[in-house]
Amino acid sequence: MNTADQALVKKMNKALILEQIIANAPISRAKLSEITGLNKSTVSSQVSSLLQKEMIFETGRGESSGGRRPVMLKFNRKAGYAVGVDIGTNYMIVVLTDLEGNIIEHDERDLDEEDIPATEQALIELVGLAIEKMPPSPYGLAGIGVCVPGLVDNAQQVVFTPNKPIHLIDLKNLLEEKFNVPIFIENEANAGALGEKEYGDASHLEHAVFVSINAGIGLGILMNGKLFRGVEGFSGEAGHMSIDFNGPACRCGNKGCWELYASEKAVFSSFLSNTEAPLHQIVKELADRDDPNMLKTFETFGFYIGVGLLNIIKTLNPGTIILRNTIVESYPMIVDSIKKTISSRSAKEALTDYQLKISSLGRIASSLGVSRIVIERFLEQFMNEMV
Ligand SMILES: [Zn+2]
Repeated sequence: MNTADQALVKKMNKALILEQIIANAPISRAKLSEITGLNKSTVSSQVSSLLQKEMIFETGRGESSGGRRPVMLKFNRKAGYAVGVDIGTNYMIVVLTDLEGNIIEHDERDLDEEDIPATEQALIELVGLAIEKMPPSPYGLAGIGVCVPGLVDNAQQVVFTPNKPIHLIDLKNLLEEKFNVPIFIENEANAGALGEKEYGDASHLEHAVFVSINAGIGLGILMNGKLFRGVEGFSGEAGHMSIDFNGPACRCGNKGCWELYASEKAVFSSFLSNTEAPLHQIVKELADRDDPNMLKTFETFGFYIGVGLLNIIKTLNPGTIILRNTIVESYPMIVDSIKKTISSRSAKEALTDYQLKISSLGRIASSLGVSRIVIERFLEQFMNEMV
């Protein structure tokens, strides 16, 4: 074997060992050797190198299988940190996580829909505040991930955000210049699907769709355990499938798009006409006193969601649908209305099995997902660079 090949083998062995420690910690050197098929001296020398790089640490002693009890190895989740940002139409959520996705800091702010300079300012400010809370660590900030409700291309440029002109902010360059770390931009529903895959309800699922309903509607599609992004990265724009071919014009160019009926904005806008109060507060106040108009609106919300979900069930046969919407999460009667709509519009024999789950991560699904992207890229980079 020439020197380059030897270096490559070493690198691959080390990556394999780190992966196994992350997946199976706490784990002994002997067990690592057994799982990876690498001999004990190879495991031992690679483990020393990972210890020296502070990516793993030794902890307590495990169960003995006869002789001395072995020292156990763990992944150093505090070796670095990641920031995840969810820029919504009228809100921003920022999380700071360690390398296992544990939340160290979590901040939210309401935003004016139209005010792009204020959004830009809030972004810099909230990310800066999150970074200030970061404990000292060997690798510091691994990067910043940002997700937006709209089209993000493979070059991580925001191409089109129908409900708020976020594309006017050059997110990647702005953040790179300001914070000097790797920046990753992703679609909000895709990020949410990744969050659920890593930390939530989709962790053991091969196929699932994550449906995010806010001002618009987005879909994150998990296929064979991986995110399906389409050729250009634009998959999952289900909010812009037409459910009424003669319906009102949409900003996307189509008519009668699903999100013109089933988004929060579409369903609840009449409650906002005479007040400055935030939507979720108004909904809660009226729902708490069983306001008949609000209860009827919940029913309608469920109906419109159900009409679109049935199209998705018919198209993808996803098995599990994870629904993310703050109002649905609070009022189970909307879920009943969704299910009733789906079953009433499909012949029994034609309806595939599906499970409708409410996102357990809730509002932070997408910010967590985008911080996960940062962590994965950091680990890939780490494994690529080490010899
Ligand atoms: Zn549309």
